[in-house]
Amino acid sequence: MAEHFREDSVAAVAVRIDVEHPQGMIFDPHQPQLRVDDLGAVRGDGIFETMNAVEGEVRKFQAHVDRLARSAELTGIGIPPAESWRAAVELGIEEYRTRGVLPEELSIRLVATRGVDGEPASDDPAFAGTYWTLLTPISPEMRAGRGRPIAVTLLDRGYDARAAERAPWLLLGAKTLSYAVNMAALRHAKATGFDDVVFTSSDGKVLEGPTSTVLLVHRGTEGEPPRLTTPELETGILPGTTQGAIFAAAAEAGWQLGYGPLTPEDLYDADHVWLCSSLRYATPVARIEDRELEVDQELTEQLTAFLKQDLPVNHPLN
Ligand code: PLP
Repeated sequence: MAEHFREDSVAAVAVRIDVEHPQGMIFDPHQPQLRVDDLGAVRGDGIFETMNAVEGEVRKFQAHVDRLARSAELTGIGIPPAESWRAAVELGIEEYRTRGVLPEELSIRLVATRGVDGEPASDDPAFAGTYWTLLTPISPEMRAGRGRPIAVTLLDRGYDARAAERAPWLLLGAKTLSYAVNMAALRHAKATGFDDVVFTSSDGKVLEGPTSTVLLVHRGTEGEPPRLTTPELETGILPGTTQGAIFAAAAEAGWQLGYGPLTPEDLYDADHVWLCSSLRYATPVARIEDRELEVDQELTEQLTAFLKQDLPVNHPLN
């Protein structure tokens, strides 16, 4: 299969899943693959996951496929079973091994689109859409940047904290391909001197980052364990697998856990705040708008160590 790859780069590896290849089939990511009328391309009508693999071991695989299944349910997009995704990802990792170029870390994206309108790829609803996984090396720069403190701005997401319940068609809580708004918010942040964003609801509740979950900690008073808090899922935020894995390990370590509702004031009152996600782990927040926050390197390392335990994630909505 080596002929599928350009020689001039540590290439991406792509694997597609279809009814004839439920275990996945390697394809060349540098060649056109998607039909121009695929609804994923023309309407952003699809769902995805981004996972991290370290030395060929996928972190939190189950939590990611569980969330993909939840997104599939919310959007009504049929997806192949978890075994297919697992086999396709393993096929991709094996391809790197065969070529002798397995990167230390990979970003692994699972993508499912509704496919082409009126032309299901299969009569089997689990294979009616378009499905692939894309594996790409994570650069040493990105890895070195983990843990570097950031400045965030609070941006209005434009709906209230109860919209998810009231208006399920907004697909809040599903990880859809429609990330143009999230990316626009990040561009706005960068243009105004910030590194990242925390979205707030129109009624003033803390939601999430465009690609991350908000986590805050209150250090316990003498002898008490720390208390970790994250916004409540009922606000329509994505159930974060990173936050979930950190919570699972923190619970075992005897820490207290809490779910919002949170307001920006709660962020300022916390001892420390992080944005977390599968590729960035826990990024400490050093400033929100014009207010400085204290950063604790040791606690950041502790959260990263929790994450490495890779414990099963159990969200209150599951
Ligand atoms: N919230 C949003 C909107 C995201 O896009 C992401 C990840 O990309 C997260 C939260 C964090 O999710 P995870 O920890 O599962 O990577």
